[in-house]
Amino acid sequence: MQHSKQILVTGGAGFLGSFLCERLLAQGHEVICVDNFFTGSRWNVAHLVSNPAFELIRHDVTFPLYLEVDEIYNLACPASPVHYQHDPVQTTKTSVHGAINMLGLAKRLKAKILQASTSEVYGSPDMHPQQEGYWGNVNPIGPRSCYDEGKRCAETLFFDYWRQHALRIKVARIFNTYGPRMHPDDGRVVSNFIVQALRNQSITIYGDGTQTRSFCYVDDLITGLISLMETSDEVTGPINIGNPGEFTMLELAELVLELTGSRSKIEFLPLPIDDPRQRQPDISVAKDVLGWTPRTPLREGLGKTIAYFDGLLSSNRSGHVAAE
Ligand code: NAD
Ligand code: UDP
Ligand code: UDP
Repeated sequence: MQHSKQILVTGGAGFLGSFLCERLLAQGHEVICVDNFFTGSRWNVAHLVSNPAFELIRHDVTFPLYLEVDEIYNLACPASPVHYQHDPVQTTKTSVHGAINMLGLAKRLKAKILQASTSEVYGSPDMHPQQEGYWGNVNPIGPRSCYDEGKRCAETLFFDYWRQHALRIKVARIFNTYGPRMHPDDGRVVSNFIVQALRNQSITIYGDGTQTRSFCYVDDLITGLISLMETSDEVTGPINIGNPGEFTMLELAELVLELTGSRSKIEFLPLPIDDPRQRQPDISVAKDVLGWTPRTPLREGLGKTIAYFDGLLSSNRSGHVAAE
């Protein structure tokens, strides 16, 4: 086992954060999970709270935070369009003020810091697949901008702290990731389709369903994030982390219907404004620099995610999760 570290995970009670906390604890580290429970939930980390190496703090990263840690994973930020557009000013504050505070903390502690950035920095891309050198095609004033531009500004801050203060930074550009512990009302496509299929409700496809996304299973993503954190100090990223398997939303709907055996019909609804047409990561840098490649095919990951939601929807916990 490696040397045990003190690690801060912001947004640690969210979907990705909870898996990250779990994995870091399993590696023998001490984990401080900071979350304001906007989209995350104490239920996501309920199985960790009895572990003395785990500490849960309710805190909003737009306010300063004084702790002592060796590494920081900055994941705090709502990720679903429905949630990040609910209070867009708070979304930008979370990305920008949150990044400043966590970078300030990292600077004081000389700690390594990783930013959970996003494929949204590429906007609706006209380079396909997307490579890290591509500057993106982002609307600065649309309904998605609070998230996209907030995350872009956070990247700017990370690279300025690196240039100006020699901080040890790591920037991961995460592509659409799915798996157990997504919120059933999260609004993202994989959880929506699965919950709709399990309830035999209509599957809601926005637009004509020909837009594409590339879906990464959560376990693979977490391995990628930890591998990036463990690289030597010269490696800053940005590095794409995602699964290059690209699917249309129609293909995804059909696969979910097949795997759930659902009687749901498909319903077509209007396409949201500025919805990216296509998205697929070029992961050659992740392969070269991290030796990382995703292992879970969509069919297998969907199977595990469906089993989770099936259990959740038939238990009392769905009420708790939805009420948080
Ligand atoms: P999530 O919504 O489940 O998790 C985000 C967590 O951050 C939640 O627990 C939420 O309560 C917390 N949070 C939000 N605002 C906060 C604040 N001001 N202070 C403290 N905590 C706050 O989403 P997720 O899918 O787990 O995403 C985690 C991170 O990864 C986000 O930064 C997201 O932008 C990034 N990301 C995710 C994906 C994906 O497909 N899942 C893709 C690209 C980037
Ligand atoms: N900060 C924090 N925890 C720390 C150190 C700093 O939350 O341990 C916050 C603090 O609010 C500060 C921000 O991080 O405003 C940026 O810190 P930095 O040192 O870069 O700038 P300054 O303190 O000069 O504003
Ligand atoms: N989408 C859909 N039906 C839904 C939810 C989403 O067709 O019920 C579409 C959405 O318009 C987008 C894609 O699925 O084209 C992925 O949406 P999601 O919100 O999961 O992520 P993002 O757009 O941020 O990649």
